[in-house]
Amino acid sequence: MEKILEVKDLHVTFQTYGGEVKAVRGVTFDLYKGETLAIVGESGCGKSVTSQSIMRLIPNPPGKITNGQILFKGRDLTKLKEPEMRKIRGSDISMIFQDPMTALNPTLTIGDQMIEGILQHQHVTKEEAKKKALEMMDLVGIPSPEFRFKQYPHQFSGGMRQRIVIAMALVCQPEVLIADEPTTALDVTIQAQILELFKDIQKKIGVSIILITHDLGVVAQVADRIAVMYAGKIVESGSRREIFYNPQHPYTRGLLNSVPRLDVDGAELVPINGSPPDLFSPPVGCSFAARCEFAMEVCDKVYPFRTFLSQEHHVDCWLQDERAQKLFLTKT
Ligand code: SF4
Repeated sequence: MEKILEVKDLHVTFQTYGGEVKAVRGVTFDLYKGETLAIVGESGCGKSVTSQSIMRLIPNPPGKITNGQILFKGRDLTKLKEPEMRKIRGSDISMIFQDPMTALNPTLTIGDQMIEGILQHQHVTKEEAKKKALEMMDLVGIPSPEFRFKQYPHQFSGGMRQRIVIAMALVCQPEVLIADEPTTALDVTIQAQILELFKDIQKKIGVSIILITHDLGVVAQVADRIAVMYAGKIVESGSRREIFYNPQHPYTRGLLNSVPRLDVDGAELVPINGSPPDLFSPPVGCSFAARCEFAMEVCDKVYPFRTFLSQEHHVDCWLQDERAQKLFLTKT
């Protein structure tokens, strides 16, 4: 499959009064054409900082990409000047955020907001831009687009607002769509409709999607591949099947065990005890060691080697070392 985006050894820090926060610490992943890659993890694990770095939306200062490359069609986005980046943002790579109300301007009609982006990135007339906007509104399932075009954001329901935000993100036909917790602010039924819409749109226009979420239920429905992040690093990555049916990192297993199971009688929720490490001075060894029931002496002292269990499935954990005792690594 064709690689559309390559993130290589990305490091991002923030300068604060308390010192330097190492928010992203060597993240590497590829995104292939037409796939959905989900990046999952607890709040503060660095998943949103990673996605905002791809868009170069990290405010500098206090944030800074201190190392690494973000290659989009061979161009390193970390090296581009802001005017060049502005051409890519919204046109080749788009982003949608958690809360549709804050993403929309309450003082402008939906139509004005939609055509603004098209006119900025494409050499078309206002009439042509309106035609494109109406087509996209229709594609994302907005009924009576001509009528809705003249309305303001407050006249839309939460689900319809999120559809508009998706339409705005896709109207210039980007190759990459980054969706940061796109369904968190929506109720469960609307959430299901929006996830269905993602699948449908991907089939129709072939966009590659990076889905940022803490919700494994959402991931199970739409992701092709999953990267699990913890304390600024990807600790396990693999296909959806590999991560759900053969998770190998204790943190991934912890995440899966803390998802409510309605299909198993009497299933109990097992929380992950403890809290993530302080990223002002992250541990030199495995960041999960303080919370891991299998931690060994080496875990605190040396960061684990990356083990490849298949072409796609890799995990950073000392339990994969052939000299480690085999403890639990059977299927869930
Ligand atoms: Fe647990 Fe050690 Fe594996 Fe980290 S490296 S997850 S502490 S067993």
